[in-house]
Amino acid sequence: MVKIAVVGSSSMDLVVTSEKRPAAGETVLGEGFSTVPGGKGANQAVAAARLGAEVTMIGRVGDDVYGSTILKNLNVNGVDTSYVEPVPDIASGTAHITLAEGDNSIIVVKGANDWITPDYVQKASAVIKDADIVMIQQEIPVETVEYTARLCKELGINLLLNPAPARLLSEEVIENATYLTPNEHECSVLFAGINRTEVLKKYPNKLFITEGEKGVRYFDGMIEKVIPSFLVKAVDTTGAGDTFNGAFAVAVAEGKSYEESLKFANKAAAISVTKFGAQGGMPTRAEVEGSLT
Ligand code: ADP
Repeated sequence: MVKIAVVGSSSMDLVVTSEKRPAAGETVLGEGFSTVPGGKGANQAVAAARLGAEVTMIGRVGDDVYGSTILKNLNVNGVDTSYVEPVPDIASGTAHITLAEGDNSIIVVKGANDWITPDYVQKASAVIKDADIVMIQQEIPVETVEYTARLCKELGINLLLNPAPARLLSEEVIENATYLTPNEHECSVLFAGINRTEVLKKYPNKLFITEGEKGVRYFDGMIEKVIPSFLVKAVDTTGAGDTFNGAFAVAVAEGKSYEESLKFANKAAAISVTKFGAQGGMPTRAEVEGSLT
């Protein structure tokens, strides 16, 4: 079993469905309400754990009912939460999602995720040292991403940085990360104004650009390659990137080639989009190995 440490966010999505979106000062009657655990860090941790990795999450939850639900959900999925400490008197990260009039509007409140500081990660450095690969995203403070990248480089531990949501990265962080996995939008923010082929050539076997249903693109040192995605009937693409990243980390840590790892990740992500919810569709190892050839 490969060991993965995830330094990242967790949150509770509070989803309300309503026919009409309220205007400022207005109250409307909604139709339904549900709570769904999310956050890119937690999603990627769950994705990797379902695929058979031994995953430890380094994160923070709030001092509230959502915090305990988030922890329970991680544990049910086999993620070790010994390093997910509640922050006293602070709320868990939440996403307030309104589905109305055929569209969604979302307010994200970072809450306890802002307490994932460099000092906090440093206290968990034993987990990082022990990992085959570390995963990180950008729903946590920028200095924590910088610190973790430096620490991984110093320790010689591979780091998969999923630069989502889009936020500029310093040259140092790019240098310290082993793998970068932006989607097309994030890539255009990170490398604004630079031709895509040039960017890919600059980061051979490091930059893997996910292109939704088209698949994933990278430069292998010789040629630019696209590993095509699997053709499925997409029902909900929320969390496709998170599943892709969790699966890619597992495969690379197991020593699979880049091509094989990307195929495995595409397969896991394709299965995930056939079901509702970010975590709802994340496949088990048997599901990935058993279907979609
Ligand atoms: P994000 O979810 O972060 O926006 P992408 O949309 O690029 O990222 O999707 C990530 C990966 O998920 C893709 O590289 C692909 O493997 C898979 N994927 C996404 N959408 C589909 C789809 N409609 N059909 C099959 N695979 C998909």
